[in-house]
Amino acid sequence: MTMEHGEDCCVKVAVHVRPLIGDEKLQGCKDCVAVVPGKPQVQIGSHSFTFDHVYGSTGTPSAAMFDQCVAPLVDGLFQGYNATVLAYGQTGSGKTYTMGTACKEGSHIGIIPRAMAALFDKIESLKNQVEFQIRISFIEILKEEVRDLLDPSAATVGKIENGNGHAKLSVPGKPPVQIREASNGVITLAGSTEVHVSTQKEMTACLEQGSLSRATGSTNMNNQSSRSHAIFTITLEQMRKSDPIMTADGMPIEEMNEDYLCAKLHLVDLAGSERAKRTGSDGLRFKEGVHINRGLLALGNVISALGDEKKRKEGAHVPYRDSKLTRLLQDSLGGNSKTVMIACISPADINAEETLNTLKYANRAR
Ligand code: ADP
Ligand code: MG
Repeated sequence: MTMEHGEDCCVKVAVHVRPLIGDEKLQGCKDCVAVVPGKPQVQIGSHSFTFDHVYGSTGTPSAAMFDQCVAPLVDGLFQGYNATVLAYGQTGSGKTYTMGTACKEGSHIGIIPRAMAALFDKIESLKNQVEFQIRISFIEILKEEVRDLLDPSAATVGKIENGNGHAKLSVPGKPPVQIREASNGVITLAGSTEVHVSTQKEMTACLEQGSLSRATGSTNMNNQSSRSHAIFTITLEQMRKSDPIMTADGMPIEEMNEDYLCAKLHLVDLAGSERAKRTGSDGLRFKEGVHINRGLLALGNVISALGDEKKRKEGAHVPYRDSKLTRLLQDSLGGNSKTVMIACISPADINAEETLNTLKYANRAR
């Protein structure tokens, strides 16, 4: 396999600035984020940041974002490259909207549904030469525990409210999901449901089921806020049906130059990046906050280690093992894998401090 993706573009970073939303307008918030026209640059106060891409609220940012940031990852799957898309940002910044993880956004089509459509288009065009198998898993990581969002036995349990109006996690009767690393470096989840799908409709049903089952806790930031990382994973297996068609000098001319390929795409809606202290937490919420920060902290360290070309060439340690999130994504971050981080930000002046934190975090990834 060639390293056609280049060694210098292992992690791409895009910023998505959502418009002011109803609540913010009601509170009289001002827009404090400027997107520099024609440049992938954002300004907040005296700070200016440049990324690979910046999407404001004009035009159709999701379509452009998909085409520029995610479509190449879907294509890469067909050549056997793993990939990860990460939506990062404070609660309410638009992560779920951007990813399309919650299937109730009306006419807005997020990244996951677009990725599904692109995947099935490509499968349709190749199905005469290649046999495909697609598996879906959908898990969340909450308090450093992995929970299966597609567990059929937990489907009706859902979320239970305790006396404080806080959601308690349902505890399915299964042992927790374990992250395993095979000797060839492939990461697998032991004990989580993998659903075989063959149509986009079936895949969408998995997304809907898992999104419903996703645990959310209410905080004073946003009562839909999620304290967990949600990871929707598409695994694509390809088996060549016939002998490859060769050129005169014996090279296969089809796109797929091996008989069997397996690759996965992780689509990650990360937990809110705001600090626990801002959520007005009781003891329980605070503990969740601390654990969530472990994942985000480890992710920041991993991505910045991967982005540091000098360190990478020296074979520097990449701290994958510091959190469940980074362990799970280990074989799909760095190496031959493609990674895109989409930093989601609110333009409202009341969020300026968190927005600046998000831009700084995203900036470390470059
Ligand atoms: P998060 O998942 O980061 O907590 P959400 O995706 O739930 O944030 O977004 C918070 C609110 O902002 C939702 O009401 C959502 O519909 C709205 N929103 C987010 N991004 C956009 C956007 N680009 N355009 C319009 N509304 C948006
Ligand atoms: Mg969300």
